[in-house]
Amino acid sequence: MKSTRIVLASRPIGMPEQENFRTETVELEPPKPGQALLQTLYLSLDPYMRGRMSDAPSYAPPVEVDQTMCGGTVSQVLESTDPALRSGDIVLGYGGWQTHSVEWVAGLQKLDPALAPLTTALGVLGMPGLTAYSGLLTIGKPQPGETVVVAAATGPVGATVGQIAKIKGARAVGIAGGPEKVALLRERFGFDAAIDHRAPDFAEQLAAATPDGIDVYFENVGGAVFDAVLPRLNQYARIPVCGLIANYNDTDLPPGPDRLPLIMSAILRRSLTVRGFIVSEFMNQAAEFIPAAAQWLAEGKLTYLEDVVDGLDHTVESFQGLLTGKNRGKLVIKVSE
Ligand code: NDP
Repeated sequence: MKSTRIVLASRPIGMPEQENFRTETVELEPPKPGQALLQTLYLSLDPYMRGRMSDAPSYAPPVEVDQTMCGGTVSQVLESTDPALRSGDIVLGYGGWQTHSVEWVAGLQKLDPALAPLTTALGVLGMPGLTAYSGLLTIGKPQPGETVVVAAATGPVGATVGQIAKIKGARAVGIAGGPEKVALLRERFGFDAAIDHRAPDFAEQLAAATPDGIDVYFENVGGAVFDAVLPRLNQYARIPVCGLIANYNDTDLPPGPDRLPLIMSAILRRSLTVRGFIVSEFMNQAAEFIPAAAQWLAEGKLTYLEDVVDGLDHTVESFQGLLTGKNRGKLVIKVSE
């Protein structure tokens, strides 16, 4: 069996470019006992992949140069050496940027195609959904009537954060890039207020949208959004630090004065809780999250938006778009039928 795959050809400096990747077709080894041969149906593209392209110290090892780029996948089993899976089964795995893969059956999760569209296993019912659920409820702890603010709010993490905040009785303020996404926040996801972080008067708009201050800031982006949020944070505000996408392509610290004393004194004077997390810490919450989210979906309390791009050959440009806000919802590559 041959697999067409995209490998990391060199480590990007700044925005990843096409020349940092190489497409090649290789012969796969037949599956060993305990392994299965899979055909990729859908590949998830996620911001964390920018970190895997770098060899800077991180919470997970980098993808090595000349190795297949990593990524979550929904695949069909073509051949299995383990009775737990049969040919034709659909599984959630970690096949990476390629058309076929050989994976350990123990690391695969069988999906029921009748339960929900398969792509949701990569988005609202998958890793990004759990990230939103655990980060918001375990660290953010929103209370009825409190104000929750989240950016990248049309994406799978942000949109889910805003909607769970509403389910818990909080007021949800969403931040996104451009008028089309801002309209989505209000009309599709039901945010109480929606703001464009690219607007020249963004900080003033945020102040007007948070008249009672901010009790939970779910940090997805950092950068200029954090600057506008900091003065609005209330006493005892909670800040789950989930992602800092505004900085993922940075090659150096930004110029300007040292702002650490400003940030630390805000943490001190306003008794802020700032707590970073990686979703893997909360994998034990998946068993409560999936049925809860499935029920909210069925009740119409939770909705999702997916941006499905056809063809593995569009993966690199789609990933660039994720880092610049071109995606509209959870970005997924449809690799095969
Ligand atoms: P999204 O689908 O929301 O895509 C990323 C979005 O980030 C873009 O669409 C863009 O939206 C926004 N963005 C990009 N650059 C900037 C910028 N400079 N300022 C403000 N917004 C920007 O991604 P996800 O929902 O998958 O992920 C959201 C965040 O959560 C990321 O930071 C990601 O790394 C993090 N994450 C963390 C996990 C963890 O375990 N801690 C797990 C999963 C995700 P717009 O056009 O609206 O600006």
